[in-house]
Amino acid sequence: MAIKCRVLVTGAGGFIGHHLVTSLKEKGYWVRGVDLKYPEFEPSRADEFMILDLRRPEDAMAACQGVAEVYNLAANMGGIAFIERYKAVVMHDNVLINIHMLEAARLQGVERYLYTSSACIYPGYRQQVAAVTPLKEEDAYPADPEDGYGWEKLFSERQCRHYTEEYGLETRVVRFHNIFGPLGTYDGGREKSPAAICRKVALASDGDEIEVWGDGEQTRSYCYIDDCVEGLHRLMRSDYREPINLGQDRMISVNQLVDIVAGIAGKRIRKTYNLTAPQGVRGRNSDNTRLRAILGWEPSVSLEDGLAHTYRWIEGQLRSPHDSTATESVPQRQVVATSL
Ligand code: NAD
Repeated sequence: MAIKCRVLVTGAGGFIGHHLVTSLKEKGYWVRGVDLKYPEFEPSRADEFMILDLRRPEDAMAACQGVAEVYNLAANMGGIAFIERYKAVVMHDNVLINIHMLEAARLQGVERYLYTSSACIYPGYRQQVAAVTPLKEEDAYPADPEDGYGWEKLFSERQCRHYTEEYGLETRVVRFHNIFGPLGTYDGGREKSPAAICRKVALASDGDEIEVWGDGEQTRSYCYIDDCVEGLHRLMRSDYREPINLGQDRMISVNQLVDIVAGIAGKRIRKTYNLTAPQGVRGRNSDNTRLRAILGWEPSVSLEDGLAHTYRWIEGQLRSPHDSTATESVPQRQVVATSL
């Protein structure tokens, strides 16, 4: 395959960024990965991996040097418990990352810049019932996003728009809806609900009970990682500049999610409910009308297949935890910035 342009993936040590690097390499791109850390579970396939802190403008400049396209995924984030607990830190770090990355992309002559936003930008008043109407992109306003994390995402979406208007920087904005899959965080407090449920079920014996946050009737849609990275590349290649949903539009309750995972595990699992645990909005689903119209494509991996891959990987990790020294043998050139 012919070598395509040089691209940057930030957050390349994280879950989606790591998968995106792998996928872009398979498509023939030269890829630079940037993160505060190397991927946790396997070496990166990036041609170059730079350890940088993108809260610093000079590190953002180094990251963007000599690349034509930027996939900006770096963020200080986690599941609902993390983003509700650390609003100041989350807003501080992510505003700095996104402000510096956009400016560095402009100054370094980057041609295309993709920003990863979130379904958390959608207003709370549209997500108050479990049987929620799927969220269209234009539902974002009047704004009432998730406090902290969601406000920062909405702010950075606007900043992308203004860089296009004032400087002609080609920007793309994607709003993820619950991406899951192997090689993602599954414990430690930053994990999301599919990974947490897989972990709890994997650790349970047949007939055991696991704790569910809330009454389990809150609803979400979940999108498998392979569909996510394919959608990111298709959006980058498109000429579409407005925000767009990227997720599945099959909505299920958390109770149903537990039942599917228990079925995959072949275990009878009973649920206990922690009604004081953070739950986020009551219902959320993606309206994929725009995604289908603009990209002529939509996610296709079934929830059952995606969860089966994810469950087996998490169960394997719990049986024989990964070797944390594995990433020391990363073959590509590594560039390490000075510490803070
Ligand atoms: P992740 O936490 O696995 O990856 C984010 C990476 O950013 C981490 O490896 C982290 O070390 C890195 N990072 C944080 N601060 C940094 C800094 N100052 N400099 C350089 N790197 C830094 O998260 P993810 O699930 O892979 O999410 C990727 C992007 O997608 C994020 O912007 C996130 O907000 C967005 N998103 C994800 C989901 C989801 O379901 N996973 C949903 C909505 C939005």
